[in-house]
Amino acid sequence: MYLSDYHMHGSFSFDTDTPMIDMARAAVKAGLDEICFTDHVDVCYSGSSVRNEFDFAALTRAYAALHEELSEPLLIRRGMELGEAPRDFAHAERLLREAADMDFIIGSQHQLSEKYGHVDLYFCAASDEQAARAQIEDYLTLVLSLARWGKFSVLGHLTLPLRYMNENNGLHMTFDGYEAEVEEIFRALIHNGCGIECNTNRGNVPLPDEKWLRMYRALGGEIITVGTDAHTPAYVGCHVREVQELLRACGFSYTCTFEKRKPIFHKL
Ligand SMILES: [Zn+2]
Repeated sequence: MYLSDYHMHGSFSFDTDTPMIDMARAAVKAGLDEICFTDHVDVCYSGSSVRNEFDFAALTRAYAALHEELSEPLLIRRGMELGEAPRDFAHAERLLREAADMDFIIGSQHQLSEKYGHVDLYFCAASDEQAARAQIEDYLTLVLSLARWGKFSVLGHLTLPLRYMNENNGLHMTFDGYEAEVEEIFRALIHNGCGIECNTNRGNVPLPDEKWLRMYRALGGEIITVGTDAHTPAYVGCHVREVQELLRACGFSYTCTFEKRKPIFHKL
């Protein structure tokens, strides 16, 4: 089984200081064949205004140094996590033009809408089910606009709000009742040639979970990557094997890696 981890963050992300070499060595140790760094190149951070720039030249130098330093065989692709594109699609497109040599782009949404002050889901504690459902609806509306825009490789962690609501706030939320909304998102992604990621979520409930993976597959969705979202070496490759087994059980025959934004299919 070809093992890849297509969502991880190194020191070019605002939320970790881990050197890229430490993440790469952890990947070798975990027996992975291929990784892709997906540092945050978000259009903006929680509640803040739009960011102006990202140092792509420094990132290019870091990749060159990484390849020199790592002696073990490991295929390393260049990617980025483009967060919050719906805040300013024109700006997101400018960032993408600067990132022309990236192999892989995760499009993801971490914030709620203006109605919630663009708060990051991580900080947006819903105290009860009603508040949580309102937040899920708000989030899914943003994700649909992201999917319709579609200028990325895969949609990141579709069910991210559930992680914070359930793991951090002790709720028991699902996306049940939002089948029509999720289907519309999947149809838009498939129409635009985008895929989804299955985020292993450190061994907790994958994002998205089985119900939605099966729906995506049933709608004809084939492009899917597996990523841990590791910010530290300990989580690199965490539950990649288990999630690949789950994908097979859900009817997928392949997982994907990317080169120059084109999917490469690996038999499960
Ligand atoms: Zn993310």
